Amino acid sequence: MLDPAVAIATSALMSTVLLVLLGSLLRSGIAGVLEWFAANLGMVIALLLILMRGRIPDTLSVLAANMLMALSAVTYYAGCARFLGRPARWPALIASLLPLGVALVYWRYAVDSIPARVLATTLFSAAVCVALAHLVFRHRPRGRSAYPYWVTAVMACLFALCQLARGIYFMTLDGVSSPLMFASTGSVVLLVASAAIMPTLSMSAMMMVHDVLLADAREAANRDFLTGALSRQGFEAVARARLAEAGRQHSPVSLLIVDLDHFKSINDTLGHAGGDTVLRDFVRVTQTQLRRSDVLGRIGGEEFAVLLPATEPDDALRLADRLRNAVTARPAITAAGPCTYSISGGLAGWQPGETLDHLSTRADHALYEAKRSGRNTVCVHQATSRASALPSQDSVEWASVS
Ligand code: GH3
Ligand code: MG
Ligand code: MG
Repeated sequence: MLDPAVAIATSALMSTVLLVLLGSLLRSGIAGVLEWFAANLGMVIALLLILMRGRIPDTLSVLAANMLMALSAVTYYAGCARFLGRPARWPALIASLLPLGVALVYWRYAVDSIPARVLATTLFSAAVCVALAHLVFRHRPRGRSAYPYWVTAVMACLFALCQLARGIYFMTLDGVSSPLMFASTGSVVLLVASAAIMPTLSMSAMMMVHDVLLADAREAANRDFLTGALSRQGFEAVARARLAEAGRQHSPVSLLIVDLDHFKSINDTLGHAGGDTVLRDFVRVTQTQLRRSDVLGRIGGEEFAVLLPATEPDDALRLADRLRNAVTARPAITAAGPCTYSISGGLAGWQPGETLDHLSTRADHALYEAKRSGRNTVCVHQATSRASALPSQDSVEWASVS
């Protein structure tokens, strides 16, 4: 039979290991990690106090240890709340400790009852676990892997059940001299489950942190740092997915490639920082003209691509012209002064079966034509050839607005 003290010591050891691991994540600056770190620290101290039962005053090994464990539980909860962008609500959390403190004092100093104390602490931690499961399930980030959030919520529910079972189990016992000495199989199993709560939930917290770090890394790779548009890599991934979707739904798609005119001279006049501001201005203006389903990416220095799902080339041409007018309508305000700039665009309508590379090449040809015909204009590549054939002058007709 496992000595219950071994379960407590093992839990203390695991909490120490997690303390070290969470310590390594402290400098990530992710909200909640500090609270999770503090929760494990509190748990390690509480467990050590419990292990010293009989050798130190009960005030420390019973009262202080149980209250510290409860404080660690609410601190863990506060960490999850902050991690999920919710307020920690510390006053309410601290207030929730009061009834537990009163119950422990009463059942230690007025009536010395171990089962009643175990029931009070297990009810408290079961309530925290249920609140935790609800918090994580309700506020889990959408559009990302749900796995770490489900694991946390399900583990919290299982632990709540174990805690309830342990509290009720202790109430059925007579003559319990110590919650640690009572070494029946059921008691030990439930004790081991209780001791595993903080280490297990800390591991699932680290899974949630890794989910955030992974999402941040993906975002960094797929997002252009300067303008906030998608990076070339991000744009191509999304655009390929949208073309595949359009193929399945037999829906039209248009691709617009935009290049800022005479951008080199903007840089020369306003400096590189002024040029950067113009690029940001262009993205901001473009975003006001696009629908939610449109995809904007920065594919080169001052070259952008806009994929327009469910849009025929005629409608895309109207949108491109609106964008061209919006850009020239007002200057970008840079630190070096206002800058009126224009754009040229090349447009191509997607043909079923056509690859993104092929479509881009055709839109690029149209852009070249727009530059050739004097800039501040949009040209459309109207392919008359099959989608598999590369564009050539023979198969291209031009339509333009400026
Ligand atoms: P055109 O009308 O034919 O497109 O002429 P252009 O001057 O716009 O084209 P060109 O390709 O000659 O010059 C593009 C310039 O864009 C050169 C490059 O230094 C500048 N550039 C590229 N990336 C950035 C950036 O991130 N910030 C700034 N400020 N400039 C950039
Ligand atoms: Mg240019
Ligand atoms: Mg260019």
